[in-house]
Amino acid sequence: MNIQDLIRPAIRNLKPYSSARDEFQGNSDDMVFLDANENPYENGVNRYPDPLQRRVKTLLAVRKHVAPQNILLGNGSDEVLDLIFRTFCEPNQDNIITLPPTYGMYTVLANINAIAIREIQLDPNFQPKVEAILEAQDAKSKLLFLCSPNNPSGNSFEAKSIEKLVKGFNGIVVIDEAYIDFSNEESWISRLNEFPNLIITQTLSKAYGMAGIRLGICYASQDIISVLNRIKPPYNVNELTQQRALNQLNNYSKVEEQVATILEERAALINALEGVSYVLKIYPTDANFVLVKVDDATKRYNQLIEKGIVVRNRTTQPGCENCLRLTIGTQEENKVLIQNLKAI
Ligand SMILES: *Cc1c(COP(=O)(O)O)cnc(C)c1O
Repeated sequence: MNIQDLIRPAIRNLKPYSSARDEFQGNSDDMVFLDANENPYENGVNRYPDPLQRRVKTLLAVRKHVAPQNILLGNGSDEVLDLIFRTFCEPNQDNIITLPPTYGMYTVLANINAIAIREIQLDPNFQPKVEAILEAQDAKSKLLFLCSPNNPSGNSFEAKSIEKLVKGFNGIVVIDEAYIDFSNEESWISRLNEFPNLIITQTLSKAYGMAGIRLGICYASQDIISVLNRIKPPYNVNELTQQRALNQLNNYSKVEEQVATILEERAALINALEGVSYVLKIYPTDANFVLVKVDDATKRYNQLIEKGIVVRNRTTQPGCENCLRLTIGTQEENKVLIQNLKAI
């Protein structure tokens, strides 16, 4: 498979914007920088940020056992996903494949970019129907989105199925691993070198506790990363975000502790849900939330709102009739949730 052939012609031939910080990089400390029309008075953010976020990538590379050249950072996963669309999908021509019920952004981004969507619903266990997916592709199918662990169902896809899809799909396979840090499954990062058409996305928004700073991560071959780098806005990850991300990555043991606590709380919540009369099914989860089928999702959702608790009503999603998605909170918050679930 030649990745260059999958790239839109306009992008393949693009001459990227060259910023002041692209044109001169050197040992910054002993230079006088008069090249970027910045205000010279130091306040911590008067200079443009590093366009390639090298310090953040160096730490991530160590943590994830991958080279910095295999990493691209974005203003949330949403920007990363948008860059992927604009690199590979020609408006009004190409199509993508999604597997509902899944993360809503893939569809929104396809619509914004005028890309057709082919939907192959997950099976009743929320696993991909491999044969049907591969049969649905044609020469214009550029992206296949696999969200594993999947939002909103919470489960991971079987590794065998993912492998068949990555091998059998003619375009780029994007594995969205936003919830991987809550899972016992291994990240597909370790297999990047085997599959030139594989892109993995992760985020600091969930396990790392940094939804507010907006930092999305993309792992892929150097060929793919370098084309994404060419089309990204030059300073897409701001200085404050880079600083907070560095702090958190240096503070990884705290993240690990929080993840361990969230997993204990998840087990306790599942245990309590088994005793709630109107809970009909608790779906297996590898994420920091649980999908449950109840007798009447909209009624239960509104009852919880009256008690001051906001959960996500997923009843309109394919295969999720009467399902609520419950995010794991603190021990205190979960206690309040359980008490109220039992009382309503
Ligand atoms: C929350 C979530 C993300 C994270 O998006 P950010 O823009 O990085 O906050 C990505 N994918 C899925 C499936 C999610 O649920």
